Parts: sequence; C-alpha cells; structure tokens
Amino acid sequence: MLEARNIHKFYGGTGKDIHVLRGLDITVEEGAFVAIVGPSGAGKSTLLQILGGLDMPSKGEVRFEGSDMYSLGDAALSRIRNKRIGFVFQFYHLLPEFSALENVLMPARVAPGDARGRKDARIKAEALLDGVGLKERARHFPSQLSGGERQRLAIARALINEPTLLLCDEPTGNLDSETGNEIMALIRRVNAETKMKVVLVTHNRELAGAAQRVYQLKDGVLN
Ligand code: ADP
Repeated sequence: MLEARNIHKFYGGTGKDIHVLRGLDITVEEGAFVAIVGPSGAGKSTLLQILGGLDMPSKGEVRFEGSDMYSLGDAALSRIRNKRIGFVFQFYHLLPEFSALENVLMPARVAPGDARGRKDARIKAEALLDGVGLKERARHFPSQLSGGERQRLAIARALINEPTLLLCDEPTGNLDSETGNEIMALIRRVNAETKMKVVLVTHNRELAGAAQRVYQLKDGVLN
C-alpha cells in the first residue's frame, strides 16, 4: 500500500512562498489504478515526485509498503526508487544514443562479469518489448520511433525491475488522442496483469476515465 498523509509542499524562500500542496491525503491500495486530474500548475507533478521518493514534502509522511519513505536513508530510498517504483514521463526521457533494447535494460544493469544475470535481463527485456508491441523495433533508436512507440518503450523500461508501483506523469500529453487512448489501454492492461499500483496524473479528464478511481487536485488537496 502507498499512503500519504497531511502532505504540504512550499516552494520559495523569496518571501513569496507558493503553497502548492496543502494537507493532501491519498491511499493507494495494492493493485489499484488511480488517476489524478487538475489543470496545469495545480501541483500534479509535485505530488507524483513526492509519492515517488524524488522530492521530500515540506511536511507530512509518505508510507510505501510499510516504510516511512523520507525517514529512510538515501541509499535505502534510492534502492526503493530503482527496484520498486517505475516512472513514465510525458517526454519519455529515453537515452537517444542507445537502442530500444538497451534503453529497457538500463535500469537492470547488473554487475560486470555476471553473464547469467545479463542474459536473464536481456531475455526479460525482449519479452517486455514484445509485450508492448515493439518486438521488431528492438534495435531501433528512439529517434526512429513514433511518439506512441517511444512511450511504449518507456513503459517497458519502467517495468524491467518488476516494480510494485508505477507513476505516470502526463503519459499521453505529447500524443494525439488515438495514440493517447492506446497508451492508456496499455497502462490499464499492465495494471490488470501485474497488479502493480498505478498513480497517473493528467490534465485530461476524459483519459483519466480509464482508471478505477479519479481524484481532482484543487487548492492543494484531493477531492
Ligand atoms: P502541474 O504538474 O499540475 O502542472 P507542478 O507540480 O509542476 O504542477 O507545479 C505546481 C506549482 O509549483 C506551479 O506554480 C509551479 O510553478 C510551482 N513549482 C513547481 N516546481 C517548482 C520548483 N522547483 N520551484 C519553484 N516552484 C515550483
């Protein structure tokens, strides 16, 4: 379970602080698919970063599968981010100089010399590419892929370490509506097949309808 309690986030220090999140609470049960909608600037990315262990809240607690995330040390928190949380972003964040297969493998980098581990990871990466419909694109570079294909690749990469939480920040924001619908269907399928928790933020209320539960982020809290 993922649980955030009384989350506050201030930005500033210039005397004109922005109070983005104002005592926000959220609970994401095992296997749940939650969407959070809100206009640009509402604090959606800020919230996702806090839930993903990337940005400490100014106040409040995030409990991830039993641990109080931000009271763990840096090493333990990085391990959680790498092994248990997958991230998908609007602009894919792929590495342009690496092939599709290498991009998927990147988070699974294993110790040099561990041939068995490398082979297993490769087999898994190929299966993931197949699962997102990119089997024939394994050797292509991101620049040779369409927007929808890049996002499918980013989703495969997010899954390589078998995370228990998938965080998606405007995953369809750069795509036309048909491709956006395909990406949402893929995320829903991943959620159904793997039972991993999914939290997705978007300004697109219609697309958010693919989730089981939709919250609105307004005035720094969820409704
Ligand atoms: P959304 O994802 O809903 O568009 P964000 O979480 O990106 O919203 O931003 C919420 C508000 O916080 C905005 O007013 C934004 O300008 C501000 N903000 C976000 N990140 C920072 C930062 N690192 N420093 C200062 N202000 C920030």
